[in-house]
Amino acid sequence: MSYSVTLIPGDGIGPEVADATVRAVDATGVKIDWERAELTAEVIMKAGQVLPPHVLESLERTHIGLKGPVATPVGGGFPSVNVALRKKMDLYANVRPVQTLPGVKTRYMDVNIDMVIFRENTEDVYSGLEHEVIKDVVESLKIITRYASIRIARAAFDFANLGRKKVTAVHKANIMKLSDGLFLRCCREVASEFPQIEYKELIVDNAAMQLVMRPETFDVLLLPNLYGDIVSDLAAGLVGGLGIVPGANLGETNAVFEAVHGSAPDIAGRGIANPTALMLSSAMMLKHIGEKEAAIRLQTAIRAVYAEAKHTTSDVGGTATTSQFTDAVINKLAL
Ligand code: NAD
Repeated sequence: MSYSVTLIPGDGIGPEVADATVRAVDATGVKIDWERAELTAEVIMKAGQVLPPHVLESLERTHIGLKGPVATPVGGGFPSVNVALRKKMDLYANVRPVQTLPGVKTRYMDVNIDMVIFRENTEDVYSGLEHEVIKDVVESLKIITRYASIRIARAAFDFANLGRKKVTAVHKANIMKLSDGLFLRCCREVASEFPQIEYKELIVDNAAMQLVMRPETFDVLLLPNLYGDIVSDLAAGLVGGLGIVPGANLGETNAVFEAVHGSAPDIAGRGIANPTALMLSSAMMLKHIGEKEAAIRLQTAIRAVYAEAKHTTSDVGGTATTSQFTDAVINKLAL
């Protein structure tokens, strides 16, 4: 049996971590037919569209993507590819497991962090509805719907129901009483269907402080789009940074797996990028396609390389190159 997966290496360090990840996935023995689709800032500018047909056609055929980062211009230029992709493919749930990795030097080394972030992925201020009302006055619309809030809440609770204990909804409904108020009402409604799961609510600023002071008390977090984006990076920082945190964008029929980090232009092309985040994302992908045993073997191999602390990359305090780290993971897979 073989699976077709659209591989989007992306910009900057994207091709380096994508190649490393393909090697690691292939070493699990799962047969993947990788359909490589180039999507970079340059390709987008040449095509004159954020999602060129060759990318969409491949994803519509495979329904599964493994994606590296794509650079987005700041304060102008073309809109974010990631936002466009999530909307176009209706990838409404952004799922980011944030876990302590053995041996990674962080400020929280004596704390076991194990949380999963469920971020709504299609609306909020990411709807891209901005306009200039009059000169020097702009308006950015925050869209929150019952439809999108219920389905992200259900995704979080369905996941929590498979072995987690608590879901914490994060909001600012004390200020945005209508928009965040609706989000919270939807979370409560879904929570009432899962009396066995503890349900908590935190205002986003307090959540940020609690995450820094007591990260081990969080289990599943449920957030609208913008807070989810910010809290994901904060949480990544607790366990060692962007280089090690994976992510999945899930919809009813499509799924795109990607690391939390960007294209890291400061280290691109030097062979030192940490491929862990994309490798762990590919483990999520393997679980998603039903290859759970291979997924667990890959996760275990990565954790073993960290526990040994001989072949880790410089962002987490090591000296290994991308390919040395990858070789070490593949060697562990062979054991
Ligand atoms: P970034 O994640 O690219 O980099 C932040 C810092 O983390 C840098 O110092 C970088 O060297 C380091 N870093 C990130 N990933 C690493 C890895 N795997 N190994 C080692 N170090 C790593 O964030 P940024 O600089 O804000 O963004 C750069 C570009 O990436 C921007 O154009 C942005 O729009 C884009 N971006 C894309 C995505 C995506 O496609 N999913 C996500 C975030 C940012």
